[in-house]
Amino acid sequence: MIISFDLDDTLIPSSNSFECEQSNILGKLLGLEPLRKGTKELFKLLKKDGHEIWIYTTSYRSKNKIRLIFGIHGLFPQRIINQTINAKVLKRYNCYSSKNPSLFGIDLHIDDAKGVKMESEKDNSNVLIILPENNNWVIEIINSIAN
Ligand SMILES: [Mg+2]
Repeated sequence: MIISFDLDDTLIPSSNSFECEQSNILGKLLGLEPLRKGTKELFKLLKKDGHEIWIYTTSYRSKNKIRLIFGIHGLFPQRIINQTINAKVLKRYNCYSSKNPSLFGIDLHIDDAKGVKMESEKDNSNVLIILPENNNWVIEIINSIAN
């Protein structure tokens, strides 16, 4: 399956919304944003099961910046969709949703925004909401994929 992840408040904290993975020296030197604790474990489990991991964000962070944020943790998402790409594709299809995972061929999208879930019902996308305060988020994602 192709599984995509939102960034802000899903994998990257906007304030002190959740505990984060330990940053390394490179991350500190470059002032990179931290990743939610459990991201490394989750990505490894998904990869082991043969899933493709994508990033799907409505932020304008560059692809290289996003690759770096994950790369310093040894994580390499296969595809990055940022808002520059998202806006272009949605416009081409006359889609007025903020995100439309099925349009990109994504099987399951993980996001913290309930609005994305509401949109997904009309767009026929599969969205799982994971809130920042959810400490069992890794297990919930794994279970949701297994079902
Ligand atoms: Mg978000």
